[in-house]
Amino acid sequence: MEFSVPSALALRGITKAFPGVLANSDVTLSVGEGEVRALLGENGAGKSTLVKILYGLYQPDSGSIEVDGRTVSIRSPRDAMTLGIGMIHQHFTLVPVHTVWENIVLGLAPADGRPLSRDAAAAEIDALGKKYGLEVDPFARIDQLSVGMQQKVEILKALYRRARILVLDEPTAVLTPGEAENLFSFLREFRSSGNTVLFITHKLAEVFAVADSVTVLRGGRNAGDFGVRDASESDLVTCMVGRELVLTKGKPAGSTGNVVLDVRALSILGDRGNRVVDTLSLSVREGEILGIAGVSGNGQEELADVLCGLRIPESGEILLDGRPVRPGIPEAAFHAGTGYIPADRHREGLVLDMTVEENLILKNLSAYSRFGFLRMKKIRENAERLIKQFGIKTPSPAAKVKGLSGGNQQKIVAAREIEAGSRLLVAVQPTRGLDLGAADHVHRTLLDERDRGKAVFLVSTELSEVLKLSDRIAVIFRGRILGEFKRSEATVEKIGMLLAGGMGDAA
Ligand code: ADP
Ligand code: MG
Repeated sequence: MEFSVPSALALRGITKAFPGVLANSDVTLSVGEGEVRALLGENGAGKSTLVKILYGLYQPDSGSIEVDGRTVSIRSPRDAMTLGIGMIHQHFTLVPVHTVWENIVLGLAPADGRPLSRDAAAAEIDALGKKYGLEVDPFARIDQLSVGMQQKVEILKALYRRARILVLDEPTAVLTPGEAENLFSFLREFRSSGNTVLFITHKLAEVFAVADSVTVLRGGRNAGDFGVRDASESDLVTCMVGRELVLTKGKPAGSTGNVVLDVRALSILGDRGNRVVDTLSLSVREGEILGIAGVSGNGQEELADVLCGLRIPESGEILLDGRPVRPGIPEAAFHAGTGYIPADRHREGLVLDMTVEENLILKNLSAYSRFGFLRMKKIRENAERLIKQFGIKTPSPAAKVKGLSGGNQQKIVAAREIEAGSRLLVAVQPTRGLDLGAADHVHRTLLDERDRGKAVFLVSTELSEVLKLSDRIAVIFRGRILGEFKRSEATVEKIGMLLAGGMGDAA
């Protein structure tokens, strides 16, 4: 029986509305002592809202919270902390110019009964670090630490406050695979001493890697509770999405043809004048997907911008089908047959105040105008064809794009760019922020276009996405390719090592 033993933590009937959105509707969840429970759901399912309520950052409209079987009132993070709840946020809250020990002690008062002086704090941090495999130099400055190390500091901060219930909101989004594995072993260790973990994720693999049980949220409501041992991947997907969804499996390319994209000794300066891509060379063939794996900020975004003419390189050459493309001119890239699915569709891909049909011809106005007049019939026909082909859900071709869901907006960008990119598709984080069904549609589309003989240049910080789709994988680190793998040779371990700049076999 689930409630025969008091739970370490229970949320009952939590409802929370924001203007126009019911973020949580009668949500119930409980976690036992010594249990790791995953809170699984797609973007927007209400996960962060629920745990912000638990941490006293929001007040619920109704519902109650129990800790160790007693109803409690949590009006602020301080109340949560006093009850033994610690929270690792999606975005860190450390002060960059301060040291590790200062950040950990910050906000504590003598009444908390925790060491406050420098040396006592450092000793305590060292001891906690050793005990849990979270070693960090207490005197290092936060801005000198990697993001993975900063997360360790956030966890140490909670442990320093004697947290027994740890809540982590999508903690692996900022980690390399190796760092994620370390985090998971810490959580197992923490659990084995009788503590409680609530682990938020939208990734199925993480549920199976670390959790004992899982609560699924969908559209702000409870959608199901499972023991991880009894649940299959497809059970969880169906529960998250609300319908059966068979995810596309990547499949290797048939035969590849001529080189389409040929990048030679390309160097690029970043916005701050530093060199973000350094004499980099690569090529992509017809019928091939080259995946660029890398932690965000290693030059991959700037590289994609240059390929699409949105940024002028410092030096080097780009050839498409053997012909040099004039750099820094989007029209030149477009006429050479490059399509671009950007990471930020709102900034670069769409004009939200324009209609669906207008957005669908944005890159190619000249083909749809004559003597200075737009050819409305042709524009409408084009839209109707693409709406059907890509399954874009819109009330009409004349509806404004801003009223559509993120998934449908992304389909509009993809539809237009796939038409434009007759030779090469550059896709940067093409599924970021999309729900599973929409992301799967984008994946299938990229595989189809490859099978039609296009070259695809894929940039993603999601290693699972790169592994699933790519025929070849190149790892970028500080603007250089550290290693390249055929799909058959690529493993998470090999790539993970290179992502952090380490020396892998292929380096
Ligand atoms: P998740 O963490 O599962 O992605 P969230 O809890 O962040 O979901 O969001 C659930 C819903 O509530 C979304 O529709 C989101 O846009 C909305 N929402 C979240 N926070 C706020 C807020 N502070 N103001 C208004 N709407 C919000
Ligand atoms: Mg969230």
